[in-house]
Amino acid sequence: MTDTIFGKIINGEIPAERLYEDEHCIAINDINPQAPVHALVIPKTCIARLVDAQPDDQALLGHLLLAAGKVADKLGVADAFRLIINNGAGAGQTVFHLHLHIMAGKPLAEGDM
Ligand code: C5P
Repeated sequence: MTDTIFGKIINGEIPAERLYEDEHCIAINDINPQAPVHALVIPKTCIARLVDAQPDDQALLGHLLLAAGKVADKLGVADAFRLIINNGAGAGQTVFHLHLHIMAGKPLAEGDM
């Protein structure tokens, strides 16, 4: 399944600067940033929502967290960032290809964002 906008970015159909890329995922800047630093870590394999992940996806899910740490480091925010996954339309998910939001660059207190 690569028919979301992220699938098109991953396969190169839609251009986007890659902040990070490895065998399993890419990271890009969010087109509509909600914080001074707002990047997305996107697996190359499409899982629609986090709840659609299967036991076989365990290594990939761990990989995405490790990649998020690397991206945060690369963006200079390793000491203060927040990871968000919106799961389902009711939670604000608009692109049904799992992705992690990395947000940073403003004070992050409980209840923000
Ligand atoms: O969690 P959610 O599905 O709402 O996040 C999708 C994110 O993808 C949004 O923050 C949106 O700004 C971003 N986006 C993007 N580039 C696109 C389309 C959406 O960065 N071409």
